[in-house]
Amino acid sequence: MRLLIILGTRPEMIKLAPIIRECKKHTGIEAVVCSTGQHDTLLDGLAVFFEISIDIALHARLPGQSLTSLTIRCLEQIHPVIEQQQPDFVMVQGDTATAMSGALAAFQQNIPVVHVEAGLRTYDIQSPFPEEMYRRLITLATQAHMAPTRTAVRNLVHEGVDRKRIFCTGNTSIDALQWAIDRQPPPTSDEPLVLVTGHRRENIGNGLYSLCKAIRELAARHKVKFIWPLHPNPHVASSVQDFLGGSSVQLIPPAEYKTFVGLLQRAVLVITDSGGVQEEAVALGKPVLITRVTTERAEAIEHGAALLVGTDEDNIIQQAEAILSGSLTCENGRAIYGNGNAAGRIVHHLSQLEADFLP
Ligand code: UDP
Repeated sequence: MRLLIILGTRPEMIKLAPIIRECKKHTGIEAVVCSTGQHDTLLDGLAVFFEISIDIALHARLPGQSLTSLTIRCLEQIHPVIEQQQPDFVMVQGDTATAMSGALAAFQQNIPVVHVEAGLRTYDIQSPFPEEMYRRLITLATQAHMAPTRTAVRNLVHEGVDRKRIFCTGNTSIDALQWAIDRQPPPTSDEPLVLVTGHRRENIGNGLYSLCKAIRELAARHKVKFIWPLHPNPHVASSVQDFLGGSSVQLIPPAEYKTFVGLLQRAVLVITDSGGVQEEAVALGKPVLITRVTTERAEAIEHGAALLVGTDEDNIIQQAEAILSGSLTCENGRAIYGNGNAAGRIVHHLSQLEADFLP
């Protein structure tokens, strides 16, 4: 089976790396990895860390480009790759412009699509923006839906997707996390910290401003160190720097994945709007405040492992202080997103798909 794996951003690389590695163990699967370069500067280091390689490197990204330009360039550049590679399947992950374009380009050339992390929904098309739209479009183009949780399976069934085409696999983020934990150097510090990240487009502006004010206030009131690795999106990074530069919050450039996992391990509280960070924090038993108004990862909230706090300054402060003072605990969701064997399951299902789709 010839499998073309299309990725472009940091989270796609992190979550597809375990599958790429797993494919190498199967002589029956020839996996070709194509990057659109959506997060161009971050991917090479991740490839080295996960001991995988990018076979085809595209250059879809331009500085300051619009979502439309990114999508057009992804589509234009992915199309000839599919034409040349003639894959039996195209695999995409998640809900990025790269994933949506990869799925659409494959659909247009009649190549079956395998979607990893399928079925996540908020059912609010504006939030997260544009990801909720992208993931729904990808579902329409997909023949094999690798759903990370039972909730994701239910969402797809509810939308009329054939149950036989949905596979409940766990999330490969936990496989990647395990890889990173196994490779952690001895800690240079075990000082506890509060880890903050923020990058959602729908939060840019008022939401991000209010989050920054809350973090500034919390960092001023509490002795514990606050660390915020900035997102590669320059828009977000510069806003956060404007709001928090000169405060006691430690702003650092995007952390290498291994380093980031080390920070997560030391965290007493994680405040984030990131999907992947929520999964990792929950898997490590860290309390999480999700700074969004909707979430497609409701399982963590249902299990009491995370709280949805929105971006209201007072609410963030109140909930963070409750956790820091020990009056509120939310630490019991460790296995919600899988137990580190999702990639193995996905590759197993792939070999079964061969019988259904290939002559
Ligand atoms: N991450 C990282 N360095 C950082 C912040 C995050 O390596 O400084 C990793 C994190 O461990 C997770 C992924 O990036 O696996 C999450 O990416 P992001 O928040 O950009 O996207 P999302 O998960 O929301 O799609």
